[in-house]
Amino acid sequence: MDYKELANLIFPNAKPISYYEDKYKVRDLKEGAVVSRFAPSPTGFVHIGGLYQALVARLITKKTGGVFFLRIEDTDQKREIENGVTDIVNSLKDFDMEPDEGMVSDTEEKGEYGPYKQSLRKDIYQAYAKYMIEMGKAYPCFCSPEEVEEIRKKQEAAKIRPGYYGVWAKCRNLTLEEMAEKIKNGENYIVRFKSPGREDRKIKHKDIIKGNVEFPENDQDIVIIKADGLPTYHFAHAVDDHLMGTTHVIRSDEWLSSVPLHLQLFQELGFKPPKYAHISPIMKNDNGNKRKLSKRKDPEAAVSYYKEEGIPAEAVKEYLINIANSSFENWRRANPEKSIEDFDFDLNKMSVSGALFDMVKLLDIGKTVISKMSAEEVYNESIKWAKEHDDELLKMLEDKEYSLKVLGIERGNSKPRKDISKWSDVKDNIIYMYKKPEEYDFDKISREDAKKVINEYLKIYNENDDKDTWFNKIKDTAEKCGYAREVKEYKQNPEKWPGHVGDVSTVLRVAITGRRNTPDLYEIMNVLGKDEVISRLQAI
Ligand code: GLU
Repeated sequence: MDYKELANLIFPNAKPISYYEDKYKVRDLKEGAVVSRFAPSPTGFVHIGGLYQALVARLITKKTGGVFFLRIEDTDQKREIENGVTDIVNSLKDFDMEPDEGMVSDTEEKGEYGPYKQSLRKDIYQAYAKYMIEMGKAYPCFCSPEEVEEIRKKQEAAKIRPGYYGVWAKCRNLTLEEMAEKIKNGENYIVRFKSPGREDRKIKHKDIIKGNVEFPENDQDIVIIKADGLPTYHFAHAVDDHLMGTTHVIRSDEWLSSVPLHLQLFQELGFKPPKYAHISPIMKNDNGNKRKLSKRKDPEAAVSYYKEEGIPAEAVKEYLINIANSSFENWRRANPEKSIEDFDFDLNKMSVSGALFDMVKLLDIGKTVISKMSAEEVYNESIKWAKEHDDELLKMLEDKEYSLKVLGIERGNSKPRKDISKWSDVKDNIIYMYKKPEEYDFDKISREDAKKVINEYLKIYNENDDKDTWFNKIKDTAEKCGYAREVKEYKQNPEKWPGHVGDVSTVLRVAITGRRNTPDLYEIMNVLGKDEVISRLQAI
């Protein structure tokens, strides 16, 4: 009995690895091109941290003329959720981050390096596992889960490092004949890596984000092929990222401590290892305590939250780049019109510790992003959001011509209105353009006095006035009613007047819109039109 025979006994039908090595050609890309991927498991909702990783990977591949692909890591089939893959694919679509290669729906994919769903790559993993057995670098393990648990308990009781390694790795020392015998007798087994590592030796690794790190070598004989014939994450990572030509593995830093194992696997398989960039999680300030954004506690941890709230995808991406590279903010100030893809994104400059998630800042970016849109774009996005989330808004927007005028107020000029941070703000922001106000708060001016002001104003109101004339008429009204014509005048002698021209325009603003703060009142009155303005003023 030799290793080859054992390997044949375990995987009689697996192809030689040369088949796959020839099939998946080395990518023909220009020097320095980065190939990276988003490799989520379809086991839960898409987390904002996942989107963040995908965005970073995509930016760096775009910048270098490389390839960004989507691989679905569904080897833990018990944990898979319904629509898991579709949700992932759609999330990337929603954020305009479609991959160059990989899954494009639950069942379809594009690209030459597939399948891009791990459950469809069983044959490939088995070929490489067979190759490892042939080299004496992997072996079948017959320990049942209960036996493995037993070992762990013993280790715990003796206060030693847990795991299947060294003297604890019972099956590693079986003879080839014993192994073959057990297999022929129909005993259940899995395949384990025969780690050449020693815990008392150190490995040094230079992570693109974390910098130089040092770890003990891996000495665990980890499982590479499970009882269901599928690989574990570690083995699949090595095989896939090798065959798919990944140059940079950009992933969550929960995997940093697995680097010794992964480098060892690449080494033993004879593959060139990729570069690693381990991203810190996005943190949240929870009453003064910094903690990870939690799937359970924080609705904003789910990527779907942003779509439901109507926060524009562009704003979310812009905010995430802000977190990723602190130099982005200055760049954006200097280049307000450029696309985020023009930013010279630098993986090396990502922060080692987790950035704090700041919703206020994100919504502020949302305001800027929306302020740059045309009325037509705001209209289309609002309708899209309303269709799924708000019938009342949808109804309001039915009259497109009118709505474009409403949304066009203070838009398209050098200081556009910045009052909408998300599509779910739109209704509240414009509702007074569709409905008469129900309440009025004239603050220090009584309703009686407000009425007097309005009556005076109605005498001279003309819907065709230009803006200067319009404003002069408000001043005239102020004067007529005993208010200061100019704010300056008022400030010199405040006790002399009940108020100034600003108070008069506030009376008109409140009477017309029900609000003290609105965009430009002149534009609002023009859009509402003469009849509506008069009717609202007369309602006081
Ligand atoms: N499936 C792994 C995860 O979701 C992927 C890690 C990686 O990018 O390699 O954490």
